[in-house]
Formats: sequence, C-alpha cells, structure tokens
Amino acid sequence: MTGIEGTPPTDSVNRQGLWRFWFAFPDHSEELFSPFLHPLSWPASQARAVCHEPGTTHRAPNPKCLCGFAVVPSLDDFLFLIGAQTALHNIRAATDFRFPQRPVIVSGRVDVRGAVLSVPGPLQRDVLGVDELRVEEVKLRELFVPTTHYGDSKWAFITSDDRVPALQADRMLRNLAIRLRDHYGVPVHLGLPRITEE
Ligand SMILES: [Zn+2]
Repeated sequence: MTGIEGTPPTDSVNRQGLWRFWFAFPDHSEELFSPFLHPLSWPASQARAVCHEPGTTHRAPNPKCLCGFAVVPSLDDFLFLIGAQTALHNIRAATDFRFPQRPVIVSGRVDVRGAVLSVPGPLQRDVLGVDELRVEEVKLRELFVPTTHYGDSKWAFITSDDRVPALQADRMLRNLAIRLRDHYGVPVHLGLPRITEE
C-alpha cells in the first residue's frame, strides 16, 4: 500500500505523555484493540509496532507505509479526534466491528520509544487532519474510560445495540475501568483527559 508520507521530525520530539485511543469491547474482551487498519489486540502495557502489509519486511514506522502506532502530541487535537471518532462510530452497526458490539473509545497517555515519524494533519486520511506521530513503541502510562455524564451528546460513550439505561452503562464502564487497570497495571480514570495547567 502506498501510504501517507511521514518524515522524521526535524527537531527533537517530545516522547513523553502523548495521546492515543483504542477500542474496548467490554462484553467480549478485557484487552484494548487498535482502532484502524489492523484491529490488533494489545496484550500488555507496552507494544512494538510491526508492518502487516503483505510482502514487506521494513521496520515500522516507514515513510512509505501506514504502519507504526499513531499517537497525537496535542491534547486539544486529541479531544477533537475522539469526539469525532465517537460520533462516527456511534452511527455504525454493531456488526461492523471486530466483536458484535460498538466499542468504547478508551484514551491513553503514553510514552514512546524507538523510531518516530511526524505526519502533519493535512496529510492525514484516517485521523481527521490532526497532527500525529507514528511510532515504533508505545508504553501506557494511564488510561481514561469515558462515562455517561457528558452534557454534549457527541461525547457519549459507545455501547452495544441501542442506548442501555444509564445506570447499567455506568456499571459497565466502571467494570471496564477495573478490568483494564488489573490487566494493564496502570491507573485508569473515569472521564476524559482534561487540559490542565502544568
Ligand atoms: Zn509498513
């Protein structure tokens, strides 16, 4: 596949505390899944990208390919991205996904290692014009499971079938947070990441 042309960053890139999201299917698995090209499970809190294009042997990420894990440096951009992804996936049929359940979009703060490519927003196809990095290795720092308590419906979590009663949904999301914490061994928060003064 000819991909989006990423380039090595020209200046030193921040590798700490970047943003990424996954799908979770709480009725079917306690693992996170990459959302896009290859719906891979994430068995552990650290992962190394490999290229899944048939016939390729290059290291991920590669400037001519879409491989590598996408991470977003800006939390502002990231919140826009997950809001838009939530709206997009909320209108898809549950049967469109890896498991017959609309996924919950789980956010994570990550550190990255290894090779890094910078891919400016205007070149993006899959992440809605948001500047991203594609990276070789990701290590989870903390996760964020959305709750049902957002006034603006675009932030509503995604769940199976139609809207389940809020109480039941809250229970499901809290259980998911506990299972993710136990599985990955990182702090898991309920709610979206917040922009705070550092
Ligand atoms: Zn590749």
